[in-house]
Amino acid sequence: MPSIPFHPRTGLYVITCIDPRVDPAAFLGLRLGDAIVQRDIGGRVTPAVARDVAYIAHLVRSKTPEGPWFEVAIVHHTDCGSALLADDDLRNDFAARIGASERDLADTAVLDPASTARTDVERLRAAPGIPDEVAIAGYVYDLATGVVAEAPRVS
Ligand SMILES: [Zn+2]
Repeated sequence: MPSIPFHPRTGLYVITCIDPRVDPAAFLGLRLGDAIVQRDIGGRVTPAVARDVAYIAHLVRSKTPEGPWFEVAIVHHTDCGSALLADDDLRNDFAARIGASERDLADTAVLDPASTARTDVERLRAAPGIPDEVAIAGYVYDLATGVVAEAPRVS
């Protein structure tokens, strides 16, 4: 079996926001080759993001079924600009400008990063092609303190 040399050295797949203050190389101390990093507005798990994670999982299963597997860290942050999408006027204008679903845009807003991180852990867990071997956890990066903490679970 061929190996997959692009497997992240730390076994980490980070999904986070495009905000320039939220660079995983900086706040996680990552170096080249350490992690797969995927960024979008808010660090939200969209169908496109879930498909990319499923692709990496498929490669591991197909090419190196004995592992190593990887962990997905969904990192949402405080003071996220996606929260502006909760503003009805701004969101409606943007939806009209790009021909997008106003409802999907409303769902993108990160107002409570612990809550949306938990939601996206569930979304990714439920997405097609994500095997149980892939660990998934949600985190909050606090811009004020520089601390990354696991999003507390609610029972
Ligand atoms: Zn953000």
